[in-house]
Amino acid sequence: MADTEDVWNQIFSQNNIGDYKEPTMVLFTDRVSTGCGNASSASGPFYCPADQQVYMDLAFFDELKTRFGAKGGDFAIAYVTAHEIGHHVQTLLGTNQKVSQLQRQTNKTEANKLSVALELQADFYAGLWAHYNQEYLEEGDIEEAMSAANAVGDDAIQKRSRGDVQPDSFTHGSSQQRMKWFMRGYKTGDIKQGDTFAEILN
Ligand SMILES: [Zn+2]
Repeated sequence: MADTEDVWNQIFSQNNIGDYKEPTMVLFTDRVSTGCGNASSASGPFYCPADQQVYMDLAFFDELKTRFGAKGGDFAIAYVTAHEIGHHVQTLLGTNQKVSQLQRQTNKTEANKLSVALELQADFYAGLWAHYNQEYLEEGDIEEAMSAANAVGDDAIQKRSRGDVQPDSFTHGSSQQRMKWFMRGYKTGDIKQGDTFAEILN
């Protein structure tokens, strides 16, 4: 998390987009009460915009390690954390709020597209984070992490952790789209290249 803070402080100040404020990371087992409702054990990681905290259940860490092996597990955890912090960045920049407002004014199909764009942008932000850490990474790591992340997508998690969402309102886009946007962030290191909305809504 300290590393994530350094990276995002740097990106915010270089692009003149305000001050970055790190979210709190909450580790939990069994159950946790959040600004977005209650979450149960093994619900996986999620970000709650209402209290600006990232919630990680410890069973999820174990699951990633046993399912993907130590190396894949470790980078998968880093990737998933970076994706959730991507949602925090969207909250700081007002994107989350804009999307929620638009979703209330539009039909289900369009609302779903907005969710996809939001999720893909969180992947792009995770890629941006990885760009600033690339001396530690190889492309194999990234593919491994993406497959892990897909297996524990936060659409299912958010449905479980927030009772009020529409059943089909959260999707992340295809694995191919997720990889593409992550890689765009990773390769460019430029926050201005992350307009997933222009692409998904057209
Ligand atoms: Zn997400």
